[in-house]
This record gives sequence, structure tokens and C-alpha cells, in this order.
Amino acid sequence: MAVNETHDPARRSFVESANRDTEFPIQNLPFGVFRRRGSDEPGRVGVAIGDFILDVAGIADLCGGAATAAAACAKPRLNDLMQEGPRAWSALRAQISRLLSADDVTHRAEVEKNLMPMAMTELMLPVEIGNFTDFFASIFHATNAGRMFRPDNPLMPNYKYVPVAYHSRPSSVCVSGTSVQRPYGQSKSADESAPVYRPSRNLDYELELGFYVGVPSELGVPVPIARAAEHVFGFCLLNDWSARDIQAWEAQPLGPFLAKNFATTVSPWVVTAEALAPFRTAAFARPAGDPAPLPHLDDAADRQEGGLDITLEVYLLTQAMRDQNLTAHRLSRGSFAHMYWTVAQMLAHHTSNGCNLTVGDLMGSGTASGPERESWGCLLELTSRGREPLELPTGEKRAFLEDGDEIIFRGHCAREGFARIGFGECRAVIQSATTLK
Ligand code: CA
Repeated sequence: MAVNETHDPARRSFVESANRDTEFPIQNLPFGVFRRRGSDEPGRVGVAIGDFILDVAGIADLCGGAATAAAACAKPRLNDLMQEGPRAWSALRAQISRLLSADDVTHRAEVEKNLMPMAMTELMLPVEIGNFTDFFASIFHATNAGRMFRPDNPLMPNYKYVPVAYHSRPSSVCVSGTSVQRPYGQSKSADESAPVYRPSRNLDYELELGFYVGVPSELGVPVPIARAAEHVFGFCLLNDWSARDIQAWEAQPLGPFLAKNFATTVSPWVVTAEALAPFRTAAFARPAGDPAPLPHLDDAADRQEGGLDITLEVYLLTQAMRDQNLTAHRLSRGSFAHMYWTVAQMLAHHTSNGCNLTVGDLMGSGTASGPERESWGCLLELTSRGREPLELPTGEKRAFLEDGDEIIFRGHCAREGFARIGFGECRAVIQSATTLK
């Protein structure tokens, strides 16, 4: 996907807050679903610009060739816009960029009527999610996690050939801000002779990038890797909450089930694949001695620019920190560019047996850990499965998450010669398991 006038760092908006230190300058234009705070409106598709949200359907009559795509934004989900296809998404982005630019004076009054201060809105789950697949694309995460169970042989023999994944559960995907209830489940500690059904004692987060399929594929027809990236509408931050004690007991031999499907949190803003064009980078370089991917997962262009340089951060805010008015404590910071498998490889693999993609499918990248400890994307890794608790600025310790803890993900892209863009936040507070009793 090419860099074009919508990425021009010199372009400014008449919305002043979009020109200052913001995650949502005119070069970003992420899509989400919003409604007036406290209302019971169904919600509409909006675009973030500075501290405001543009009601896209409200300006459909100013959108010329992109009018149909703009009108599809009158819905409380992005699926209808996705159905319009990549050309329409791109045309709409170009038109919104022009209409919000400081250069456009003709339509400004009309556009302004369709701007709502973000502070007056609530953001909703942006997509009606069809299927949800979660990958395992960081070799650093796979190795760190594997080492805890198989110290001598941490990486499974298939890892460098197969972008492994499991099918997860769309029904429990929630938008940022929705609290997450600590799950009950079966677990068995080493000193117990039988499992016990109880609230998870090893609740963890997993820092991931999510991506939404906007272009479907046909059942029985694999998507070639060279075309796979075209199926992606956009990206979000995704927290694949994980109950490690439940996981350790249940996952043999079929993999994650109840340890993962009780909740997944996604950020409300979907940053389009087009907005990320300037931040594409080379795919992770396989170390010497690693096998080349099989031909159906290998593509020269994908090797050259299949990676994404997105800085991802995790913060923790405990009840004690809130009580003391402390800011959230950063647990990690890393780049998505260290993922072993690219987005195109994940999608090509997903369809390589003929499994079809549908509009609104959500894919998780897997925990985005990099080589350095400071970039590890879950507590399982950071605390060595709880054996080495983290010390927080309050003097508190954390092996795993406590009730009242809030986990906050942030992400941004920055590159010389381009405007810095952000993903907004993906956050949720852990609530006690009491309501299940
Ligand atoms: Ca995961």
C-alpha cells in the first residue's frame, strides 16, 4: 500500500487539537464506533481527529465518489464500510483528509457541524466480529514461554515452519474500558493431588496487535501470500487475558480453551492499513541456520516490507497507585517489528488449507515480545511464571494480576519525515470473581 497525499506530514487540519501533540493527527484518521455519552443511541462510525470525532455519514454528501462508503458509516459497526472494499476505504480516507485539512475552506462549516468532542462520547466495540483467531507469532514469546515447561527444548519443532494459532471466542471480545472479571476454573498446583474449581490465581495479560479482515476469501481457495495483506482493513491493540493456572491444567493436548476465552479486550480505534503504510519495514530477519519458510509462506515483497514498526507499551495501575494519585507504571516497551511471522504469512497460512476469511474476522498476533527483557509482553515472561515478582513504585509486588489492577496498552508509530500516529488505549480493570459464586 502506497504512501500518498494523506500521509503528507505538512498537511494540517482546521481542527487545532489535531496539529498539537496528539495520537490522532490528520495523517492517522482511525475508524471507530461512537455515541453520545450516556445515550442509548445505537452508535455510528466516526473518525478520530485531534480531540474530536467526525461523524462520517453526516458528511456523505460532501464525499463525491466516496459517498457510498461514507453512507455505510451510519451503522454501529465497521462491517458495512469494510464490505465496500479497499478502493472505497482509500477514496473515503482521501476525501476525509481533504475535508478536514486547513486548506479546505469551502466545506468547513458543514464539516464542523459533524464534529463531536471526544469527551462527550463513549466508544463502542467497533466491529461485529465474525471469527477470532489468535496466533503465536513472536519467537521470543514462544521461546520464553516454552522454556518454563521444556527447559532443554523450549521451541516446538514446527515453530519455524508454521505460524501456529488457535481459534478463540468472538462472544467475549469487549471494547477498552469494560472491566474484566477474574475467571473461575479448574487448576491444580504442584502440591495438590486433584484439581480445584476456584478463581484463577495466575491471571495475566498478553500484549498483542489485533487486525481485522475487511476482504473475504472463498472457501476452498487459499489466499496467495502476495495478496494476503490486501485483506486487512486495519489494526488495533488487543489484550488476550490469560489464566495461567487454568491454562496449565487444561491445555494438554488441545491447547487454550477456558484459560483464554473468558475475555479479550480491544482498543476502540482501528488504525487502517493505509495509515500504517509509512511504518512498514523489513520482515524480521531469520537468524542464520533457520529454515526458509515454505514457498507458500515466502514472498520477496513481504520480506522487504511485511514488518510493522509499531512501538507497543504496557502500563499497570493498581488500586494503591490510584489512591496515591500516581501515574500508571510502565511494565514493558517494544516493537512489533520483532515478530517472527508477518501479517501476510499469518493470513496466507490461515487460508492455506482452504479455510475462508470473512468480513469482520479478528486476528490476534500473539504476545508481542521482543529480544530484550524490557519488551516482554506478559507477566508469565516478566516474572518467570510468578517466581520473580515485580516490585512496583508503591512497594507492592506482582507475580500475577490482583483484583483492582488496571492494564493499559498504548501503541504508536514514529518515523523521520512522517507524522507520529497513535492507537489510543486498550485498558481494563480486573474485578473480583465474586459474581460467579
Ligand atoms: Ca495470545
